Amino acid sequence: MSFKSLGLLPEIISAVEKKGYTQPSPIQQQAIPAILKGRDLLGGAQTGTGKTAGFTLPLLHRLSGKSGVLRALILTPTRELAAQVGESVSTYGEFLLLKSTVIFGGVNINPQIKRLRQGVDILVATPGRLLDHASQHTVDLSQIEILVLDEADRMLDMGFLRDVRRILKLLPSKRQNLLFSATFSKEIKKLAHSLLTDPVTVEVARQNNPAEQITQLIYQVDREKKREILSHLIKEQKWQQVLVFARTKHGANRLASQLEKDGIQSAAIHGNKSQTARTRALASFKEGSVRVLVATDIAARGLDIDQLPHVINFELPHVPEDYVHRIGRTGRAGKSGEAISLVCQEENKLLHAIERLIGRDLPKKRVPGHGIKSPSSK
Ligand code: AMP
Repeated sequence: MSFKSLGLLPEIISAVEKKGYTQPSPIQQQAIPAILKGRDLLGGAQTGTGKTAGFTLPLLHRLSGKSGVLRALILTPTRELAAQVGESVSTYGEFLLLKSTVIFGGVNINPQIKRLRQGVDILVATPGRLLDHASQHTVDLSQIEILVLDEADRMLDMGFLRDVRRILKLLPSKRQNLLFSATFSKEIKKLAHSLLTDPVTVEVARQNNPAEQITQLIYQVDREKKREILSHLIKEQKWQQVLVFARTKHGANRLASQLEKDGIQSAAIHGNKSQTARTRALASFKEGSVRVLVATDIAARGLDIDQLPHVINFELPHVPEDYVHRIGRTGRAGKSGEAISLVCQEENKLLHAIERLIGRDLPKKRVPGHGIKSPSSK
């Protein structure tokens, strides 16, 4: 199947070809025709499946006829994801006349007001800052024709449900709705039910199941040995680009500076860091001057890093779904990846909950040369 056969405009196909994509990914093959027809859509897809182009390409196609009025709103949970989606909109819309902008919190609101005033067709936003604009009447949502809720599960995890509901009230009732989520809890199903009318459901990879091309491994370790073992693995295996998950902001900071002391260039990325610091850390990681990025769940959500080969869980998440999100950072768009979790005895309960969620036992190993004082029970 080709992008052309999906019926997209030549201007959009040129942009996609320029980006080097040869054929639509599975989610794109399913989502694009449905969205072009004007249908509501429920998309079960993690980052890495090509879901952004899956909704952006048909959205651009549908809006292309006229411009000058804000007609599409894309809501994302995090600033990073908003910035990335905004980039995709610009890239895929390069040969169209549509204008887009991105608004999120943590940065000065005035340049955003200025850009909105100049007129945009497509707005990518995080909920809080969008509501700020709405209350200051610096954004007009009354002509929205297409709404996208991207990573809706994370939006709820981050406590944005009320904000989202307030935003929905500001939109015209007749519109096309697209909801994407990697996992489907009761709350997500409820939100989808209230938001979508007769939706087409598209799903790639099994629900709540990590992408198949990811190799998952558990190293059973002593808690106090974790840092030493992580440094050892990074050096021994010569990993060049590693995303490490820590549970707390403080833990992320501490780990990054300890790794630095071990001679491994590292940076931490979390909610207490300024937007500029986060963007800088991500850029250094992407271009290779930072080898390890230590992130908390919230900060890492939606990071678009091509072909990330290694994801490490320094600590297991308390919410099993977060495990699925975390390891979704590797093995992207058909590339293989490795997700390693350093699990101490105290975390066995969390591990069992994860195994229950994904429906299978994960392979367990010891780190060669690192004896374990207290072997875990599994
Ligand atoms: P996403 O799931 O939207 O975050 O996309 C994951 C990655 O896949 C991004 O780096 C995209 O640039 C890339 N991508 C999206 N669609 C395609 C495609 N049809 N062929 C190859 N790569 C793609």
